[in-house]
Amino acid sequence: MNIIELIDKKKEGFSLSDEEWKFFVNGVMDESIADYQVSAFLMAVCLRGMTFSETATLTKYMALSGDVLNLADTFPTCVDKHSTGGIGDKTTLIIAPILAACGVKMAKMSGRGLGFTGGTIDKLESIDGFSVNLSEEKFMDTVAHVGAAIVSQTKNLAPADKKLYALRDVTGTVNSIPLIASSIMSKKLAAGTSHILLDVKTGSGAFMKETETALELAKTMVAIGAQNHKNVAAIITDMNVPLGFAVGNALEVKEAETILLGNQKDRLYLLCIELCTHLLHMSKNITLVDARKMAELTIDSGKAYEKFCDMISAQGGNITSLSKKEAPIKKEITASRDGYITKIDSAQIGLCSLTLGAGRHKKEDNIDYTAGIYFSKTYGDEVKKGDVVATLHTSSLSVLPEAETIFEKAIEIGNTPPKPLPLIYGCVTKESLENE
Ligand code: URA
Repeated sequence: MNIIELIDKKKEGFSLSDEEWKFFVNGVMDESIADYQVSAFLMAVCLRGMTFSETATLTKYMALSGDVLNLADTFPTCVDKHSTGGIGDKTTLIIAPILAACGVKMAKMSGRGLGFTGGTIDKLESIDGFSVNLSEEKFMDTVAHVGAAIVSQTKNLAPADKKLYALRDVTGTVNSIPLIASSIMSKKLAAGTSHILLDVKTGSGAFMKETETALELAKTMVAIGAQNHKNVAAIITDMNVPLGFAVGNALEVKEAETILLGNQKDRLYLLCIELCTHLLHMSKNITLVDARKMAELTIDSGKAYEKFCDMISAQGGNITSLSKKEAPIKKEITASRDGYITKIDSAQIGLCSLTLGAGRHKKEDNIDYTAGIYFSKTYGDEVKKGDVVATLHTSSLSVLPEAETIFEKAIEIGNTPPKPLPLIYGCVTKESLENE
């Protein structure tokens, strides 16, 4: 077997065998296949595509290229959730304690953010003392005793993905659904949980702008999971407007607290309940109706908030530190006219938040944990001229003019109320794929 044959085969649109995918991933890892050959192969994949089965096979070998966590022996049922990325998405912080309060273990490895806002790990690090680098033993122990733990991805999780992504990034081959799906799912397979729920975002602030493409990505990831013996489902959800009122690390953790205390029942709350409903249905074998009631009850009874506090303190965090975490500079942005908020462009809000200091331009950049945006009004709300629409938070006076300009471009005020935006566009399960 040699890589030139494989490139030719893919270029002609043929499917590769299990052995051939293994040869490819091994060659990427031991560098016996040169970067230019890997790149040519990736371009052939981009242009010709892959079958679900091939994509699942590639993903299996990518997952096996590094550490694979063996959670199954200790936690035969253990869940994970992955979002394809959105502005103001703090759902992991909220659903982990809800699920733990329902008796479902969540063992989660998350990433840091690069770009618009911080990732889940950055959000958690805005809590004083919180450790995202637990030993494997402490991670397992926390999952066992608290029911949930969230740690930073280990360096050796699916290293083949790191190598392939680095080449895709510079060869115009990022934008391929099978390659995106295998990249995401290789890390999920290696993270070792039995159940995985994928939250595939669609809309102006999402990686997948079109619902059709988001659906295709969702189907591909569910097919990968099914072939690799995981219980996987996906929901397609809206990212035309930011999720919740807060964007920025400490601001988002505080909003997670508000939701868990039952004091905010908006789209963010509804999405968290939806995610928990699916995960409880999948992992406890109960109906969706019962699962939804169970999730809602954990918030109304205060049990989810109790779990949140347990989870934070088990990982060394001091939750009371959050109330003192305030940006030194705050700037209110007011409505320029009477009307209704008809647009909040998520991508621009992400950029505004990055400008305020809440994200990273480069991997090495430091995050300002207090920076971000807090909305007082949301999509569809009526406003009068001079009403506060949002407050910009930052530690740096010099970034404010640019952040304000970006913010003002992100918001539109119209004469009539806008059409309500859907929250959930669809759901993909192994069964729905089989029935197609
Ligand atoms: N996220 C990933 O992890 N991989 C991709 O290829 C795209 C988004």
